[in-house]
Amino acid sequence: MYQKNEIYTVTVTDLAAEGEGIGKIDGYPLFVKDALPGDVIEARLTKVKKTYAYARMEKLLQPSPDRIVAVCPYARQCGGCQIQTLSYQKQLEYKQRKVYNNLIRLGGVPEKLLTEIMEPIIGMQPEDYIAQKCGVPVRYRNKAQYPFGVDREGRNVCGFYAGRTHDIIANTDCLLGAEENADILKAVLSYMEELHIKPYDETTKKGLIRHVLIRKSRATGQIMVCVVINGKELLQKERLIDKLTAIPGITSISISPNEKNTNVILGDTYETIWGDHKITDEIYPVRFMIDNFCRRSQRWSGKLSGKWMGRWERIAENGIRFRISPLSFYQVNPVQMERLYSTALEFVGLSGTETVWDLYCGIGTISLFLAKKAKHVYGVEVVPQAIEDARENAAINQIDNATFYVGKAEEVLPGFYETNLKTDLETNSMKHPDIIVVDPPRKGCDEGCLSTMVKMKPEKIVYVSCDPATLARDVKYLRENGYKLKRVRACDMFPNTVHVETVVALHRTDM
Ligand code: SAH
Repeated sequence: MYQKNEIYTVTVTDLAAEGEGIGKIDGYPLFVKDALPGDVIEARLTKVKKTYAYARMEKLLQPSPDRIVAVCPYARQCGGCQIQTLSYQKQLEYKQRKVYNNLIRLGGVPEKLLTEIMEPIIGMQPEDYIAQKCGVPVRYRNKAQYPFGVDREGRNVCGFYAGRTHDIIANTDCLLGAEENADILKAVLSYMEELHIKPYDETTKKGLIRHVLIRKSRATGQIMVCVVINGKELLQKERLIDKLTAIPGITSISISPNEKNTNVILGDTYETIWGDHKITDEIYPVRFMIDNFCRRSQRWSGKLSGKWMGRWERIAENGIRFRISPLSFYQVNPVQMERLYSTALEFVGLSGTETVWDLYCGIGTISLFLAKKAKHVYGVEVVPQAIEDARENAAINQIDNATFYVGKAEEVLPGFYETNLKTDLETNSMKHPDIIVVDPPRKGCDEGCLSTMVKMKPEKIVYVSCDPATLARDVKYLRENGYKLKRVRACDMFPNTVHVETVVALHRTDM
């Protein structure tokens, strides 16, 4: 039997779902944080279980050929970028494999079918990011959420939680985020120091500042700052506003009170204390379709000639402007967001006559692109502020064939089915979905939602997922209930992390 603290030399051969390297001693697997396939390491056992153990990398005896220099000085302390020392090409291969394996193991998809239909993962391109140092994408996020607290010396700090804890490691410049974030966070810290304001303490439930949320639009450069506070009143708003408005680009400052002692960062409400209530961003998914076309074509090397440029600009005018309030969800990687949505639109494949339901629609991003080509789109989303944004977004883009409902997908959809559709399915009621798009959070779709989807018998279901395990579980359900898997494509929205987004299309089997 193995003992805690024993040291073994192992060759790492695989990467687990959370990014730990896996190496075996006589068939007994060790999960080692920060170790990569191809590394030969000295590993110290930290937690010994019957069939596996966790271990720490004590010494890197021989680095993997795929290992690159960590771009971030906090790489090992922070739980955020689990695989940032893996070359970008290998990160993409890992994610492609993760989706593939999940669909086979948890989704029961036959391997032969999946090899035929799964398309290559959409990665970021070198021209998309600042990559000079280490060859991995950084600064790609449009959103940052920093927790505030005190360090061991009792000083106010903000930064990130050390992996799996709530200890804050001070760092105002996470390399995934915008460069302006550091100035904004320093301004909030200096405001706190001058006015002797304490950060929130999770144990005593005292102190004011909990988190700062920053969002920056890639298209317009507008920056939104939302300070999450404990209690309703932020003392001396003016001083905070003075400090923040000295930073160029800030167009919106708000506060969101959150008195709950949970892991949920934002409160249920917000109040704008300066500037605009929302920021504006623009998205052009067609850009990716053209890009893709140019890349595939022999005749164009990725650059567009004058004639095409004019056409591109005309198509690009078909982008959509989005107004985003602090509490609404918005995809964090704007470059990849266009590629993700364009993939979803391609999988949906509209001709203009379809009724589409977009479940978990957020501020209506996917819904409104669909609405441009569909007869009518119905969006469902649980956060009321996001639905307010969705309605405003439809209006400012002159889209009048989209209707939005506040509520849980698993309640709104069955509710509609029971009251409006059940008796009316055959007569092709206006609301009968030809296509259902879903884009749920990590936990996937509720079974009540899936079973109603199946009863509604749409021709196609397009599933956008941020967790391949729950995607696989839901694909299994849909495959067992009258749908066949037709297309699968992963998209790397979160370089350097283990997370991966996937779009799949399922078609009704009897069609
Ligand atoms: N399609 C959108 C949002 C996707 S994120 C986009 O691409 O921007 C998932 C969304 O589902 C979030 O906006 C979240 O608030 C919402 N949500 C979470 N649980 C839900 C539920 N049970 N019913 C409806 N919406 C839900």
